Amino acid sequence: MLKGFHKDFLFGVATSAYQIEGGNQNDWSEWEKQANIKGIKTSCGQATDHWNRYENDFLLLKELGVNAYRFSLEWSRIEPKPGEINQTALQRYRDMVLLLKKLGIEPVVTLHHFTNPLWLHTDFPWHTEKSIERFAKYAEKVISTLSPEVKYWITINEPVVFILLGYIDGGNPPGFKDSKLAFYALKNLLLAHKKASEIIRHYSPEARIGIAHNMMKISPARIFNPLDLYLTKHADRFYNWMLVDAFAYNILNYRFFSVFRKREKLELKNTIDFLGINYYTRMHFKFDLLKPFHLSFFSFDKSKNGLSDMRWEIYPEGLESVLNRVYEKLHLPIIITENGIADREDQKRIKFITDHLKVLKRCQKNIPLDGYFYWSLLDNYEWLLGFEPRFGLYEVDYQTFERKKRKVADYFAKLAKGESKV
Ligand code: BGC
Repeated sequence: MLKGFHKDFLFGVATSAYQIEGGNQNDWSEWEKQANIKGIKTSCGQATDHWNRYENDFLLLKELGVNAYRFSLEWSRIEPKPGEINQTALQRYRDMVLLLKKLGIEPVVTLHHFTNPLWLHTDFPWHTEKSIERFAKYAEKVISTLSPEVKYWITINEPVVFILLGYIDGGNPPGFKDSKLAFYALKNLLLAHKKASEIIRHYSPEARIGIAHNMMKISPARIFNPLDLYLTKHADRFYNWMLVDAFAYNILNYRFFSVFRKREKLELKNTIDFLGINYYTRMHFKFDLLKPFHLSFFSFDKSKNGLSDMRWEIYPEGLESVLNRVYEKLHLPIIITENGIADREDQKRIKFITDHLKVLKRCQKNIPLDGYFYWSLLDNYEWLLGFEPRFGLYEVDYQTFERKKRKVADYFAKLAKGESKV
């Protein structure tokens, strides 16, 4: 148990299916085939081969002494064709859940973490209402199979990031550059979340349901420049607060500059029991006269805390202001569903974790905080950046799939077992 936090505090690590399992065929594996056009470093392929090594990997969880593990299910594996369920795959996920329970580790299951079956984009794309029903059907299958054992559910991981990269920037699948379609995709993702939440409540009234939202500290690059200030305010609203406000006030107020705006009432208020926050960094926004309708941002070591290998600023201070504001609006418990650093040499990770946990320790006096998940258990496939960024508490050798403990893992285990405190 993590010292200084309440007794039910979940202290664990997080992963996602596509990034570790290997052997998945979905929209991303298809996207990677055009790597030369899309600037993707490597294709995911076998990833860390977790699908075949999960039992061994769960022993690493045991070694870490964590009391919870967040992972996601690969929709394309469970439903390779519309309506066709792969029972063997579903059973393997059930085995995972049962093994975690046997090891005394609380499973926290994410239904959707960025990837989609290819057929979804062709026949039931997210910007069409048909997607909601499709997702609900998949969700019902897995929830009815896993719900007696699974208490914590996360319906969708980072819907705002999904539409930003997949529907506005176009760098991720499905590759649209259309802020209007992005609105409809976001609305449908939220309605799909709502359906899933109803299904979870039906099968398991005791369950605790959340959605995972990526939040950053967003600052102007030049603090006295009115255009940077305008951009910062706009980006902050869109990236951080549009989703939080939708859950707090039941209104999705979508404003992508003046390019596309829409306000819509969505009844979301009672569909979550906690908000999952994925917090990594701060970004600095700079208005670009050549690209006025663009969320142009960059990272630099303004706070002198250092940068990660991905050149993301280490900025634990930002987490405090994010948490305070979320709680002010939502009045719901919060779980940090991801927080981590790419740090191949493992030089900065211990301090990174400690400093973020210190923020949580301070904030829990005023805010109900129910968990912290480090991203990630293992090095894994970092989307467009391939295997270069190293987030793991355990290093992965991608030739042999051998896992090697980084020194941070011992520190993490001491925290988890209450032998050390922050
Ligand atoms: C995503 C992960 C990703 C991590 C690090 C999060 O926003 O949920 O899939 O690996 O960021 O970039």
